[in-house]
Amino acid sequence: MPRPIQALIHTAALAHNLARAREAAPDARVWAVVKANAYGHGIERVFDGLRGADGFALLDLSEAQRLRALDWRGPILLLEGCFEPRDLELCSRLNLWHAVHQNEQIDWLAAHKTHQPHRVFLKMNSGMNRLGFRPEAYRTAWARLNALPQVDEISLMTHFSDADGPRGVAHQVAVFDEVTRDLPGERSLSNSAAVLRHGAGGSGPALRSDWVRAGILAYGSAPDFPEHDIAHWGLRPAMTLRSRIIATQSLLAGDTVGYGSSFTATTPMRIGIVACGYADGYPRHCGSGTPVLVDGVRSGTVGRVSMDMLVVDLTPLPQAGVGSEVTLWGHGPGGSLLAIDEVARAAATIGYELMCALAQRVPTDVGD
Ligand SMILES: *Cc1c(COP(=O)(O)O)cnc(C)c1O
Repeated sequence: MPRPIQALIHTAALAHNLARAREAAPDARVWAVVKANAYGHGIERVFDGLRGADGFALLDLSEAQRLRALDWRGPILLLEGCFEPRDLELCSRLNLWHAVHQNEQIDWLAAHKTHQPHRVFLKMNSGMNRLGFRPEAYRTAWARLNALPQVDEISLMTHFSDADGPRGVAHQVAVFDEVTRDLPGERSLSNSAAVLRHGAGGSGPALRSDWVRAGILAYGSAPDFPEHDIAHWGLRPAMTLRSRIIATQSLLAGDTVGYGSSFTATTPMRIGIVACGYADGYPRHCGSGTPVLVDGVRSGTVGRVSMDMLVVDLTPLPQAGVGSEVTLWGHGPGGSLLAIDEVARAAATIGYELMCALAQRVPTDVGD
């Protein structure tokens, strides 16, 4: 029998979450962001659940090729644009729309021979200070692009640094609106947090975005956890990581568990050894008490996570034993649920990082 660990990708949850994005941004078209191999879920595995999107946004040309191989004929946007001039050939061949965030990319376009002009998303650095033209340089870049025969339509784009937090988006929206006021073209501003917190049903007037970029919300993690959880936003986990108990131990008071003896039993207790470790993508940096479901009942981890195993407390589960189902995150038996955000918090990180880190060695199936 293979090692009992397994990941499941939930097609219905992906479609449900996408529908939530549409509710929150009713007037916008939705990019399903599938960079990083669909946030670790696998582009091919999420395709059925997300094919109702208006387009797919990603970074890697190889991932764009995989989408075309799935026969996706709709829009694909390269969020970081081209990394070198010859990438433009593939953009022409696969009909990829691409971000333009710096002058070098305009130079490459100007030198590019194409029969079919490109659709570009001109990115403004409105305060994130990662990619994009500063506001004072933006209109010059727009005019340069507009003069190129290689360019068809120019859309206007920016990215928020604080859509999930108290600083919010207003300061960046003000800069963006001021500079782009009289420029034609569609706008793309919102990521998941902006869609949920600053879209229809959010606080304040809904943000205008012709194309929203829905990443994390599609996968069923709350961008602003712990302020809000997925139940608050009506999202469902698109990934379950589950395994089984492969052994049990009975501890006496004073016994320790695992490497570094970081956990000491204060009373007799029963523990279960689970076939899941950091080589599967489970975070090592989470202490004892990280939430976990055993047969759908909430318990906690005990001691350090090792490469192939972790340990759970079975004291509240006298009936559990070898073969019991353990849900590391996602959907458990009997309608139980453990949000990836809770595990991420115990590891001092975010749901994004855990889902992206799901290891290659974990057998992954697609289901409902
Ligand atoms: C990754 C990314 C997104 C999606 O962000 P989420 O927080 O996952 O919704 C949107 N826009 C850009 C430019 C990105 O790189």
